[in-house]
Amino acid sequence: MDAVASIDRERLIADFMTLVAIGSPSRDEANVAAYIRGVAEELGYLAEEDDAAEIVGGNTGNLIIRVPGDSTKSTVLMMAHMDTVAPGHGVQPIRHADRITSDGKTILGADDKAGIAGLLHMLRVLSATGGDHPPLEIVFTVCEEVGLQGVKALDRRQLRASYGFVFDSGGPLGFVVTEGPAQAKMEARVQGRAAHAGLAPEKGVSAIVVAAQAISEMRVGRINERTTANIGQIRGGYATNIVCDLVELSAEARSLSTEELRVQREHMTQVLQHAAARHGVTAEVEWQESYPAFSLSEDSPLRRVVKQAMSELGITPVFGPAGSGSDASVISGKGIPVLNLAIGYQQIHTLEEWISLDDLCLAAELMLRIVRVIGEIDVRV
Ligand SMILES: [Zn+2]
Repeated sequence: MDAVASIDRERLIADFMTLVAIGSPSRDEANVAAYIRGVAEELGYLAEEDDAAEIVGGNTGNLIIRVPGDSTKSTVLMMAHMDTVAPGHGVQPIRHADRITSDGKTILGADDKAGIAGLLHMLRVLSATGGDHPPLEIVFTVCEEVGLQGVKALDRRQLRASYGFVFDSGGPLGFVVTEGPAQAKMEARVQGRAAHAGLAPEKGVSAIVVAAQAISEMRVGRINERTTANIGQIRGGYATNIVCDLVELSAEARSLSTEELRVQREHMTQVLQHAAARHGVTAEVEWQESYPAFSLSEDSPLRRVVKQAMSELGITPVFGPAGSGSDASVISGKGIPVLNLAIGYQQIHTLEEWISLDDLCLAAELMLRIVRVIGEIDVRV
């Protein structure tokens, strides 16, 4: 039976409306997790919860639903996230002729409830029609919006999947993220020397002057098409009559290239340390990796799968990079190659967020098509 023929548009839309009305800002995803578990159990699947709740300080962990399939094929991961940004409680979805919006007082949360609704619909269809497909692991993560903490807490050993698909990208349907930047964050402390600004300024070293000189020599903003850097915060100083002895900086750098990110980090560190050394003081610079870069090779069979599934639905695939991290970055860093597919949500993280009814349904059809295609061709990654 052709799975796509059995898309139940009204049921999918109703599921989506229910999901968005269940508020789930980061660390408060328990109610949406309970809804997902209810649907899974009604269909005869078990939704396991991992121990991410404790790690992220939230009220539920990530959910993993295992769907048995043709065991001669590799297990496939399909992912969406359960949390939303704020204001995400009390969402009142409004169905217009062609789209769904919130009432303007909250976000809608189509990011990423459209992904969840599509995957639940896929489960409904698969449980009703069966069909040939590899074993699936459907993972719903927590805390994506607050530094990808849920997927970071996900233990790779709980998954058997050897490749997968993430359904959580903006942009029009058809856009497929095949590359994402690595991000690193910097915390720096420029140590000056305090002195009375009027009586003995020569005894002091102004940390503000040192930091200003360093920043004026620092390459920030867009470095090239792969790499960016930004100083997001600067803190320091007490009063006009005190030579400032401490300035703290928070900054970040991102790059599609791990090597370029390393070079950029080193540059920012050295500029700060050299400026401090010129004044006989020090700068402590600490970097932390937020998430790794990911990129899918040109000849990856995952591209073929997506192209075929999209062409059957009349969608033109556009492969390209993302400007920021997603669950895809972290899961691919854990050794599971993935693509991140746009599912049609628009103006996310704003009160004007919306999704068209057609895109919501087409995204769900795309998920089913992908499962059918991987059931037909033998994907080896
Ligand atoms: Zn998202």
